[in-house]
Amino acid sequence: MAAHKVPFNKPCFEGKELVYIAEAISRGHISGDGSFTKKCAAFFEAELGCSKALLTTSCTHALEIAALLLGLQPGDEVIVPSFTFVSTANAFALHGAKIVFADIRPDTLNMDETQLEELITPRTKAIVPVHYAGVGCEMDAIMEIADRHNLLVIEDNAHGLFGKYKDQYLGSFGQMSTLSFHETKNFTCGEGGALFLNDPSYIQRAEIIREKGTNRSQFFRGEVDKYTWRDIGSSYLPSDMLAGFLYAQLQERQHITEHRSKIWNRYHTGLKEWASQRGVHLPHVPGHCEQPFHMFYMITPSLQARQAFIEFMRSEGIHCVFHYLPLHLSDMGLQYGGREGLCPVCEDISDRLVRLPFYNKLSNEEQDYIIEKILSFS
Ligand SMILES: *Cc1c(COP(=O)(O)O)cnc(C)c1O
Repeated sequence: MAAHKVPFNKPCFEGKELVYIAEAISRGHISGDGSFTKKCAAFFEAELGCSKALLTTSCTHALEIAALLLGLQPGDEVIVPSFTFVSTANAFALHGAKIVFADIRPDTLNMDETQLEELITPRTKAIVPVHYAGVGCEMDAIMEIADRHNLLVIEDNAHGLFGKYKDQYLGSFGQMSTLSFHETKNFTCGEGGALFLNDPSYIQRAEIIREKGTNRSQFFRGEVDKYTWRDIGSSYLPSDMLAGFLYAQLQERQHITEHRSKIWNRYHTGLKEWASQRGVHLPHVPGHCEQPFHMFYMITPSLQARQAFIEFMRSEGIHCVFHYLPLHLSDMGLQYGGREGLCPVCEDISDRLVRLPFYNKLSNEEQDYIIEKILSFS
């Protein structure tokens, strides 16, 4: 039995979550779009400058609303990185898109913008960059390519809330962007998400899609005297109790980010020498990117080395995990033309990447134990 047990992730409570849930209950409004939902949306709109922030039940659902806003026709294509969570692709596939896989850069593990243009066809409708680990994609190049080909950009910003690329917030470059508040993310309410609309022309239809295809949002603002079925849509509103939970976390933004930055830097400093002696790569953060410290990963020299590392850490009671499997080689990916060798960097990195325990309340003591054990592994 190992002396300690360190999980990979632990949902963390910042203080006022239960107070705000109780407040929503005592106010008698626990369905969607109550006062905490409005507070969260106002916070995002003021802090991040999007035209409209719509809270959703998940990042997956926010991506699905984005897919509906694209008005996809059969044969239309959407470009996603192969190294990402299933939802980045599935949300668009669900609404009829043909998925086209982009390989990633070997340094930041983000969509490789230098290969993007080769993937564009007359049927391409949108590009969906993912800011892996909250480190920004090369947005100048991606936006320039998208503008030149008249394509929309939807940033899957599930890792990157409060991260910046060239002093501008991630999620504010594309016409739309999405966030996740799943319990594995920096800010959480268990399950939740948001859709940011940076281009105001999408607001009205997005509100209707989010409200089961009705113009109920306009009705509640007093802009129309009744609400009716206007378009297709579904039910994408989170309960105001969850919004209260989220708001408690957003209020601790400074403190959460500071603590996560300390964890990240302690890993980096503590492991630098050990890593360089063993051909292990630590994360690369370009000088023009400010990260929100979403995760700490290492890239080992081989699949065997990665598996041996995970096994060793497990024997010491520390849970380390690998990450995305190449989407283009999944059963669904193969149906969209995926094959071995299509995204070679993604295939290689996917075998060799390992993530270390990282959560808001990871203590110095726990982290010292993790680092000590890693240094003892050769
Ligand atoms: C977590 C995550 C999602 C999905 O988020 P949910 O809120 O669980 O739907 C989508 N994309 C990326 C890149 C993620 O990390």
